[in-house]
Amino acid sequence: MKELNILNGKIINNAPISIIVLNKKGDIVFTNSYFKKLSKPLVSKNISQIPFFVREGLVHLYGRLLSEGKSFKKEKCYTTNSEGKPVYIDIVAVPIKDSDGEIESALSMAVDVTKEVLTELELSRLNDQLEEKVQERTTQLGKINEKLNSYLKLKSEFIADASHELRTPLSIIKLRLELLERESRGGVETFEEINEEINKITEILSNLTLINSIEEKKEKLNLAKTDLEKLIFKTIKRMRILAENKKIKIAYDRNKEIPVKGDFEKLERLFVNIIKNAIKYGKEGGWIKVKILIQNNFALVSVSDNGIGIPKKDLPHIFDRFYRSDMCIKYGKSGFGLGLAICKWIAEQHKGSIYAKSSLDKGSTFVVKLPIVKR
Ligand code: ADP
Repeated sequence: MKELNILNGKIINNAPISIIVLNKKGDIVFTNSYFKKLSKPLVSKNISQIPFFVREGLVHLYGRLLSEGKSFKKEKCYTTNSEGKPVYIDIVAVPIKDSDGEIESALSMAVDVTKEVLTELELSRLNDQLEEKVQERTTQLGKINEKLNSYLKLKSEFIADASHELRTPLSIIKLRLELLERESRGGVETFEEINEEINKITEILSNLTLINSIEEKKEKLNLAKTDLEKLIFKTIKRMRILAENKKIKIAYDRNKEIPVKGDFEKLERLFVNIIKNAIKYGKEGGWIKVKILIQNNFALVSVSDNGIGIPKKDLPHIFDRFYRSDMCIKYGKSGFGLGLAICKWIAEQHKGSIYAKSSLDKGSTFVVKLPIVKR
């Protein structure tokens, strides 16, 4: 018995658990060695006089345990150790009964959970800090966004105003030039050259105005039943003069009527842009082939050329606004990179699409797919 008692004592004093025993009155009658690590010595004191038990609401719980035998568990109770450092403990308390089953005393065990609680507290503090930072950044981003929007608005207002302001003097110059051309006898070529340059500037301004109004979502279609075949035929006819300057032949076999619901001017602009590019990026003495294929209620208009072609890396971007391939620089082709972005918008607004295939130095094919009106 004596040896067993010694062994019990050893176990109790070496276990990494704080153990206290309370008598029926609530006096602390025993504490083990580990208890001293977590708290100041307390033996023979009544728990109702110890601030820790009062503050953590334990007096009531131990009271019920000693009178009714109700075990309890209380987590994260806060105290300070003999060095004054914070300690958090989880407590489990059970009754000790005599041989008649009467409650004699209470056994209370506590484990140190300081590390876990402090980590948890630190985590929640960091979390709060993070939330604060996110909030701060969101506000900052919101302000930057506001600024950006006002700059964008300014930019599009500037483009709209500048294009408008420049177009008026340009049309006056053009008129005067025509008058001068009529009155003068020689130097016709010079007039034509000046006229061509004016036309280029006018086109750039018109593209800028259109892309601006597209971005501002102000551009609308004027839809009506249109014969796509006639539209393409007329466009090609207009483009032939430009193609002849580079000795480029445009091949096109007439088709029967192809009714589409479209905006005549916009669709004309789309095909003018594509054919103009085929001429611009085509080789002197080359060819352009325009074909129309009908497939599942769609008209597929393809414009092929045997020009300079488009590098593979540029192909996915040519429909982005302001995008120009390196080939333009290599061949000294002027432009603004807006034509195809406008073409894409026009095709998509007609519930259609546009795509390109190309082989460097061999040529390119642009295909416009548009829905046909059912008869
Ligand atoms: P721009 O001709 O003013 O540069 P576009 O938007 O019309 O602008 O065309 C974008 C780019 O696509 C051009 O810069 C050119 O590199 C390429 N591209 C378009 N059409 C052709 C074509 N038929 N052949 C070769 N490259 C083309």
